[in-house]
Amino acid sequence: MRPREPESGSTETTAPAAEILLVPLIDVNWLVYAPFDPARGYRVDPPDVAKSIGETRALCRRLREQAGGRYILTPHSGTYCRSEYYEGEMLEVYREAVADGAELCVHLHEEIKGAGTRYGEPDHMAAMVQDCKNRLEDAGISPVAYRGGHYAYAPFMNRLLENNDILIDCSCAPGMDYPDREAIWTEAELSAFYLPENPRRPSTGQARSRVFEIPIGSDGGGSAYANILHVEQSDLDNLKRVWAAIRERAKRVERPQIVHSLFHTGSMGQPELAERFRRFLEFVPEHGGAFVTTVMAKAAYDHAVEARV
Ligand SMILES: [Zn+2]
Repeated sequence: MRPREPESGSTETTAPAAEILLVPLIDVNWLVYAPFDPARGYRVDPPDVAKSIGETRALCRRLREQAGGRYILTPHSGTYCRSEYYEGEMLEVYREAVADGAELCVHLHEEIKGAGTRYGEPDHMAAMVQDCKNRLEDAGISPVAYRGGHYAYAPFMNRLLENNDILIDCSCAPGMDYPDREAIWTEAELSAFYLPENPRRPSTGQARSRVFEIPIGSDGGGSAYANILHVEQSDLDNLKRVWAAIRERAKRVERPQIVHSLFHTGSMGQPELAERFRRFLEFVPEHGGAFVTTVMAKAAYDHAVEARV
């Protein structure tokens, strides 16, 4: 028997009017994880879960204050850390976040140091998604979204997620083209959209899947760190520049843009990064942005489409 779902602290589900609807996405992780980086010897340190619990709690408190509890946690599960972030006291931290209004995501890292990835293996991916989902559900938490490590998303994921009733994905970095990592987003849109059956092909003429994609915020100039809302791999001025480009697009197409930003719990130990994220969160609502959960973002998109028909 599954325990009942915890009460959600936030009853509000309607997205506020804004030029940019931003989902603050928080990767629950540790330092150092560099399975693709020969310069660092493909270094992957073992996770320090006790430290992560403290860092995640601190970050959730901040997001409760600064973002009204509207954000999504994407805990790492992968080759080098399968279940540590999906068991024990960590689950208690997630329940506290959900009580504040936050969401949980299944997040897989199927890399093999210096050798490649397993993102293209349907049976393996299905088993890993199922395992994470079961662990969260057994703790009374329903994961609402999926996210692939390093932006990986094989076309079969559409069906896999639909079969698991996970209808939101946050794997996309628009323009990215890393076939060896299963991260091909050359046809992706810059604001949230429903993935076509094959997300790697132009959507024209293709049937639409039921999976709603919320990409990382991008200036439209590519998928390099400088182009996207990856807080650690940027600086505040550049984040503001990318933000301005997204806001400009919203004005041009006369539609709110729906995107996510990326920050990692492992960065909380570095005061400069924690402060940068604090200031970014402060900047957002003062510059045409509103914080939303992924479910609120999807509802806002569906509602706007219905209104246009
Ligand atoms: Zn990750």
